[in-house]
Amino acid sequence: MGAVVVEQLVKDFSGVTVLQNINLDIEEGEFFALLGPSGCGKTTTMRCIAGFEQPTDGIIKIGDETVNDIAPNNRNCGMVFQSYALFPHMNVFDNVAYSLNVSRLKSSNPLKKMGIYTRMLNSKLAKYPKDIEEKVNDILEYVELEDHAKKLTSELSGGQQQRVALARALVMEPEVLLMDEPLSNLDQKLRHSMRNTIRQIQQDLKITTIFVTHDQEEAMSMADRVAVMKDGEILQIGTPTDLYSHPQSPFIADFVGKSNILDGKIISRDNGDAVVQIGEQSVKSFSNIEKEDVQVVIRPESIDLVDENSRNYDNYFEGTIQFATYLGSTVRYDIKVGKYQLIADTVYESGDNIL
Ligand code: ADP
Ligand code: MG
Repeated sequence: MGAVVVEQLVKDFSGVTVLQNINLDIEEGEFFALLGPSGCGKTTTMRCIAGFEQPTDGIIKIGDETVNDIAPNNRNCGMVFQSYALFPHMNVFDNVAYSLNVSRLKSSNPLKKMGIYTRMLNSKLAKYPKDIEEKVNDILEYVELEDHAKKLTSELSGGQQQRVALARALVMEPEVLLMDEPLSNLDQKLRHSMRNTIRQIQQDLKITTIFVTHDQEEAMSMADRVAVMKDGEILQIGTPTDLYSHPQSPFIADFVGKSNILDGKIISRDNGDAVVQIGEQSVKSFSNIEKEDVQVVIRPESIDLVDENSRNYDNYFEGTIQFATYLGSTVRYDIKVGKYQLIADTVYESGDNIL
């Protein structure tokens, strides 16, 4: 399995820079997510790693090898796309066997013309060598599609098509698995169960995986580490807990989970803590930034609601509850505090009064 290193990657399209100075150091066997809003450059980054796009500048390494000049099919990357990109006229088995067979024919047959292979593969007479047949059957069993091998992919559900796409990538035993928004076309329930399936496969095979998504919950629940991208740049890389607890910018705080963001000024410091003036109130906060004008992030679940008589908190704000929304296991309160509208999530236990 290979580590993936991206150094100072730049990509221009007709003079417009869409990726600037992307640096990634993805460890062998790691599940790494690229997270960011639509248009920020996630797919372009993946396509540069896979070899479908040539970087304008920068270096891409897979394993110990610099792959900039290596053709996509020799980079040993398996790719799964949002659209699945299956062959609709072929059955499940043939879809999964296709690449294996092409690479076998290419390496063994002196006639190196794609057209000939394709015709051979499409022919009803095409027979697979025994080892290919076994390998495909094994992988179909692994993704629980063995009973659907002879069906056309167009006859399958979205989740099943997704598993065919996964099987097709995995059957080549790639060093690196690249997945570009693979769950976006699935309904919500299926998306949750496919998260677990993909995570399980990744852990079983210990395959270095780069997973692209615009869905923060998906990235945070699946990946060992997450890189957050915006406008062609990487803003922060960290474990999910790292990003959640120590966002380095308001954008990250807002993008990764819900947050209340308040403007303040640091008025004194004590080791890692700072006293921050926010309007009329002052609060204590963890801080490692030098400047005085700061933004304070308060996660909704970190707010306790107390009545006016129990003010013995370090960080205390007075506010008025405007709405309470019952969300099942939690209740979300919208609270007006000065010029801010804060949200607070409290755990709901049956019998609790909702204020
Ligand atoms: P994401 O996957 O994060 O949604 P993309 O990598 O697809 O973003 O796109 C990043 C930016 O690059 C977008 O502004 C997009 O319009 C532009 N872009 C992507 N591919 C091309 C292309 N082949 N030619 C010109 N512009 C492109
Ligand atoms: Mg994309």
